[in-house]
Amino acid sequence: MRKFLLFSLAVILFLGAAFRASLEFEKPQDLTIEFLTKSLMQNAAREFPSPDALQIFMCGTGGPIGNSGRAQACIAVITPNHFYLVDVGAGSTANLQKSGLPMKRLKGIFITHFHSDHIAEIYEANLISWVGGRSKKLAVLGPEGTNTLIKSINETYSFDRRYRTKHHGEKLLPSALGLISGKEIIPGKPIIDGELVVTPYSADHSPAHPAVGYRFDYRGRSVVVSGDGNINEQTKLISHSTDILFHDALSRGLVSNLEHAARDLGLDRLSKIFFDIQDYHASTSAISMMARDIDVKFVVFYHLVPATDAYLGEREFKRNMPENFLISQDRQWYILPSQEEEIKIFGD
Ligand SMILES: [Zn+2]
Ligand SMILES: [Zn+2]
Repeated sequence: MRKFLLFSLAVILFLGAAFRASLEFEKPQDLTIEFLTKSLMQNAAREFPSPDALQIFMCGTGGPIGNSGRAQACIAVITPNHFYLVDVGAGSTANLQKSGLPMKRLKGIFITHFHSDHIAEIYEANLISWVGGRSKKLAVLGPEGTNTLIKSINETYSFDRRYRTKHHGEKLLPSALGLISGKEIIPGKPIIDGELVVTPYSADHSPAHPAVGYRFDYRGRSVVVSGDGNINEQTKLISHSTDILFHDALSRGLVSNLEHAARDLGLDRLSKIFFDIQDYHASTSAISMMARDIDVKFVVFYHLVPATDAYLGEREFKRNMPENFLISQDRQWYILPSQEEEIKIFGD
């Protein structure tokens, strides 16, 4: 048996090496490219699974500070009839495309506040969904200031939209659908879209003001997405009786280490920045303390400050973490079937 296994392993290694060597020649290159292209197109053509569930996809779990493979803030909220994003930071639309999300179904983007790591790819998301065949204008909903932001994005990309419609035709890329529509929300006032109820709440992210988070309720399941900010009374009230609270999380240990290391090396500007950011994100311990007082099934850290995917870095975030706390990863799924208790979590 052992001999047979060794023989099989040797054959596999030999075939692998022979295949790799054959790719030095044009004919095998062409055949392989043709095969891979067909597979890619088959993936693009497949129907997106739409179980009767609240589906959450992590399109970005990092922030602006840190050195990791995590994209900046982005969470997708999907049901059979809805597809929204909460924020769309740098790198997040690549995650949406890698995982084959149905961009033509994208209805809107809820913005939590106007820091660049939350809004950097608004136009990318608009473009991909427009090219993908979205049938209505993309709506961007956010706090006061959203209309000004959207007006300037529409103006900034007017040349881009014009070239694309001219190149592919008005029928394929209608110019009206390339424009984004802005809508300003009011904290505390729910937005009702069929069976999905979205409730914005005020977040404490001063001096970035206004800042909001959102609670999503769909057929007996619920999640809260914090955006950025400290824990406040609103966080507690809105997160009570929810399935999952997705919250930005700051590791005081890691950030103060960065602050002191920068100061010791004479990097005073950097040291001051690491000092300043500690007052407007929720620390891991503040989130743990708050979660003790409320009824929430899971708390998931995202928008890690600093963004890290190194083993030691993640260990630091996990220190003293209660059992129902998790650290999210890019392209991870959380599936909450309607009217049930279950939560399925898996990577893509
Ligand atoms: Zn941020
Ligand atoms: Zn922010």
